[in-house]
Amino acid sequence: MHHLLYFNGTGPAINEMFGCPCNRCNQNIRLANISVSLISHDGAGNTLHHVLFDAGDGVAASLAQSPWLKHKNGRLDQIVLSHWHRDHTLHLNRILVANYLRGHRLNIHPNPRVPVWTRSGSVAWLDDLYEFERDQYMTVQPSGEQVLPGTLIDPIPLPAIPDITITPFALSHFSADFSLDRETYISCCSGFVVQGPTKKFVFFWDADTTNLDWVTNPQTAEHQATLDLLSDADGLIIDTTVWIAKNERARYQHLSFPRTVEIAKVLRPKVTMPVHISGHPDLPGHGAWGWTDQDWQENGSQAWSDQGLPGRFFVPSIGDELEL
Ligand SMILES: [Zn+2]
Ligand SMILES: [Zn+2]
Repeated sequence: MHHLLYFNGTGPAINEMFGCPCNRCNQNIRLANISVSLISHDGAGNTLHHVLFDAGDGVAASLAQSPWLKHKNGRLDQIVLSHWHRDHTLHLNRILVANYLRGHRLNIHPNPRVPVWTRSGSVAWLDDLYEFERDQYMTVQPSGEQVLPGTLIDPIPLPAIPDITITPFALSHFSADFSLDRETYISCCSGFVVQGPTKKFVFFWDADTTNLDWVTNPQTAEHQATLDLLSDADGLIIDTTVWIAKNERARYQHLSFPRTVEIAKVLRPKVTMPVHISGHPDLPGHGAWGWTDQDWQENGSQAWSDQGLPGRFFVPSIGDELEL
């Protein structure tokens, strides 16, 4: 079996803003929230397994247009959600209903329910936001833990693809990290280490600035074990929401480019791939406001060579593939 990661989307919470005069919003190209498909295939044109990571705005169209999911290859074996925020879950309805109509009503596969893995802290939110979809189309698989950020979580069971390991780890993302009544802190978000027969990729989204604490200054054996697994990957796909934060030392719910640089220095991936980028949160006249992905690529690569950073800097696009 062969495996690859396919980018369904790379974008932040708001892909494009109506009324916005910036270059990014006037490119007239299709944009989608950050989402990746793990595709397993036989090398002869047959898709054998499909795990979807995150399902935000634009992802339903990306799946419909994916060359790996055409016609008889259309399948959805599992969904993995990094957290409950809507920019990571907004298209659950469209994707699950399409899967139901295609698979169940057309009698292609009998089970309309897709297993959906997410952290236990995000399950209450899913139940609240997507009650109908949960009742009709999902079998929710809670992680069954409440570990703190920087801690590894048990690998996601994948009986059909034994040569792939997906190891989640807890990320701090404080705008998502609480109970439904917003009274109690609960760590709700996870990153993932996806390991194939020859390669390893790290998914590090969404992540707030307090994650720097356990990355740059690990205090426990749990932190060190997580760093060991995340280090020297073939690629680090990382939330880089802003180019320059207004106050780089303030606690912020996403990472900025300088914080991504700090993490890349420690983890030393072969390629650092920023996602969740736009520049809009930089605010007009500041940082990356209105930058296209090409602007990010040029400025990021320049910083990479100026600072002698490990590996290279690459801004992924919809349709890009990474061999596992
Ligand atoms: Zn997000
Ligand atoms: Zn989020």
